[in-house]
Amino acid sequence: MLAGNDLTMLKAPSVTETYYHATAHSATTSKRLQGECVTDVCVVGGGLTGISAALNLAERGFSVIVLEAERVGHGASGRNGGQIVSGYSCDMARIREVVGTEASKILWKLGREAINDVDRRIEQHAICCDRRHGYFFAATNQRQLNNLYEIAEDWSKLYGYDMTVPVARDEVSAYVGTEAYVGGLSDPGGGHLHPLNYLFGLRRAAEGAGVLVFENSPVIQIQEGDRPVVHTSKGLVRSRFLVLAGNAYLGSLVPILARRIARVTSFVSATAQLAIELARRALPTNAAVADCNTALDYFRISADRRLVFGTGAKYSSGEPANLRRLLARRITQVFPYLAHLPLEYIWSGYIGITVNRIPDFGRVGPTIYHAQGFSGHGVALTGLAGKLIAETLAGDAGRFDLFSGINHRQFPGGPFRTPALILAMAYYKLRDRLG
Ligand SMILES: Cc1cc2nc3c(=O)[nH]c(=O)nc-3n(C[C@H](O)[C@H](O)[C@H](O)COP(=O)(O)OP(=O)(O)OC[C@H]3O[C@@H](n4cnc5c(N)ncnc54)[C@H](O)[C@@H]3O)c2cc1C
Repeated sequence: MLAGNDLTMLKAPSVTETYYHATAHSATTSKRLQGECVTDVCVVGGGLTGISAALNLAERGFSVIVLEAERVGHGASGRNGGQIVSGYSCDMARIREVVGTEASKILWKLGREAINDVDRRIEQHAICCDRRHGYFFAATNQRQLNNLYEIAEDWSKLYGYDMTVPVARDEVSAYVGTEAYVGGLSDPGGGHLHPLNYLFGLRRAAEGAGVLVFENSPVIQIQEGDRPVVHTSKGLVRSRFLVLAGNAYLGSLVPILARRIARVTSFVSATAQLAIELARRALPTNAAVADCNTALDYFRISADRRLVFGTGAKYSSGEPANLRRLLARRITQVFPYLAHLPLEYIWSGYIGITVNRIPDFGRVGPTIYHAQGFSGHGVALTGLAGKLIAETLAGDAGRFDLFSGINHRQFPGGPFRTPALILAMAYYKLRDRLG
């Protein structure tokens, strides 16, 4: 038994409706789990991980039920920056230290496969989600710029990835119309999309392949065993396998998983629409952008020409009282000429990060699998997680076990967990400012 009925679900720290929900293409009718069901695989969590796992499993002939506590896309998958980023949240050099050079080469390839799979799925299922190519890593100081150039060399020499272009200070305006950056790295292999419409497209495909999705059906108790049983307040599902895909929204349902990620809050806004010339001035190549700070700024222009701008990573709970002002100030620091733009949507969401910033895939028991802790790089890597889980249940665990073999340290628990993380964050923010 993994948890009891006293579990309280984590409510998303939603400030207003997200821009994504306001511009979502399809609202499917919602069914709640009632009574008892039997299936091959029960997936807990209707985000990109859970829905991708369900789709891949259904394609392999498994019967699948997805249980989502709220609505599909309620978690990070419907709230993120929509940025598709090459690699992982930590440098490949760090990954080499953890898994060795040869395995790091496979992990790099899997990262590329994850991005290719996003495009494959969009094409295969005709998903309208405003996919754009192009990414820009921005340096706010010389130390960061040197580091970006080293990363580009590393990606090229060891992983054969030659697409990036180093960008000097006087070339930045060709990518980002700002004086805030001392240079950067352009990566045509990254990009952006409307994450909720992408997720809804995957959900449609999954349901088309026979997956049953139950919403407003929070799992409150899990019985482990040869045939795991999950309970909601109104029903239960018996299955051969269980996939836990609740990530940073899973709360304490599975304590061993909760200890392996820290839940960080990030804040996002979408401005009023920009005039065509202003949008071109801000992001001439329409790339997605992120700076290299610890509490980073990330932004892009949406298909309807809004600046979708996210910032910050907050370990402490709750929202800053002055969130609107904070976001407006960050936008103005990068784009002084956009200071007049009203912020029409402001929202926030939880990111699950691991200690080493490598995603945490593994098994909680012989029949229970999980994937979490994409550390802010989940838009593409979640699809890979779903695919590798399906491969594993179909009998080939080779690629999944490259990840599951990685040791994930626990964050220090108890009442000291948050203060320690806040202190660490304050230190890194100071380092970013000092360059
Ligand atoms: C503000 C923000 C910005 C981000 N920006 C980017 C970005 O630009 N690029 C990028 O690559 N990544 C980004 N990320 C990270 C990315 O969004 C996540 O890695 C990814 O969406 C994780 O997907 P998931 O399916 O694992 O989890 P989620 O999308 O969080 O889904 C988990 C689901 O499980 C459900 N759930 C939880 N507990 C239960 C339960 N007991 N019973 C039933 N259901 C349950 C939740 O309601 C939720 O819908 C960002 C995240 C945030 C929050």
